[in-house]
Amino acid sequence: MEQHSKSVEPDNDVYKTLLESTRAIPWKIDWKTMQFAYIGPQIEALLGWAPSSWVSVNDWAERMHPDDQKWVVDFCVAQSQSGTDHEADYRALTKDGDYVWIRDVVHVARDENGEVEALIGFMFDISERKETEQKLLDLQKELEELSFKDGLTGVSNRRMLDSVLEQEWIRARRDQQPLSLLLIDIDFFKQYNDYYGHMQGDDCLIKVAQLLSEAATRSRDFFARFGGEEFVMVMPETDHEAAQKIAERCQQIIFKQQIPHAQSEVSQILTISIGSGTIVPSHKDELRDFVDRIDQALYQAKQAGRNRIQAA
Ligand code: GH3
Ligand code: MG
Ligand code: MG
Repeated sequence: MEQHSKSVEPDNDVYKTLLESTRAIPWKIDWKTMQFAYIGPQIEALLGWAPSSWVSVNDWAERMHPDDQKWVVDFCVAQSQSGTDHEADYRALTKDGDYVWIRDVVHVARDENGEVEALIGFMFDISERKETEQKLLDLQKELEELSFKDGLTGVSNRRMLDSVLEQEWIRARRDQQPLSLLLIDIDFFKQYNDYYGHMQGDDCLIKVAQLLSEAATRSRDFFARFGGEEFVMVMPETDHEAAQKIAERCQQIIFKQQIPHAQSEVSQILTISIGSGTIVPSHKDELRDFVDRIDQALYQAKQAGRNRIQAA
């Protein structure tokens, strides 16, 4: 219910005080002359430019980030000409040479004949909002990476592996090319953890992952952490012999590092066992069976004394 005890007509002073005490910065541009008729004194606190320095629309356009300038000016002019209220986000130049994100909300004022008379608007400082938006984007990117990367070692994770392996399997079957796979497992790693501690165990895994990922020779070779202390190398268009060479290379790379492993039953240093397999898949073959056979080969390598390569 409206209650009019008496008609209140605020005078100009009231309007002025209200306008100049808000955080939004009011302004007015005369359409015919394209000159500023007014700009709130708050502009100086925000951008450093005194109100008296805002003379024409050019001052507005020139104090804008070069990347925003063209589209913002074109857009605002077009909207104003068609008499449409509009808003635009852009980076305004400060007197110190920095940029502040601004949202400019523009109302097109018309005279009694319906002709555009002036543009009246508010500038809002939206830098905090933009910063939050950017942080969210960065976070999103980080999450994407995290979900395909193993959190500890930074190499590709199981999820990525499943997808790559599936794709390469289909490609190898289609192109009738050999696909090779290595399953790599650190020997006596439980003892390593027990003796050196879990933290050093983690460091060791990071190092091994880093070293093994460098054993790949072709750009399509793909390395991932399978889980725990097990890793996988996927090698498309690679035959048995070439795969054996990469497997040997993996062993040599780890050997060269001479990582002490006092509790290993096969050596004084850290060693790995590898199961390998190569297939030109036909439509009768299943990826699962192929991986299982290599897993069995790895098991045989362990049974036969570890620190060795066993082909499926
Ligand atoms: P084998 O030679 O037969 O492979 O013996 P193993 O001890 O290496 O194999 P087992 O599967 O018995 O133990 C694997 C160990 O790897 C157990 C676990 O403590 C360790 N491990 C798995 N994931 C991690 C991890 O993320 N960090 C650390 N520090 N250790 C891990
Ligand atoms: Mg294991
Ligand atoms: Mg192991």
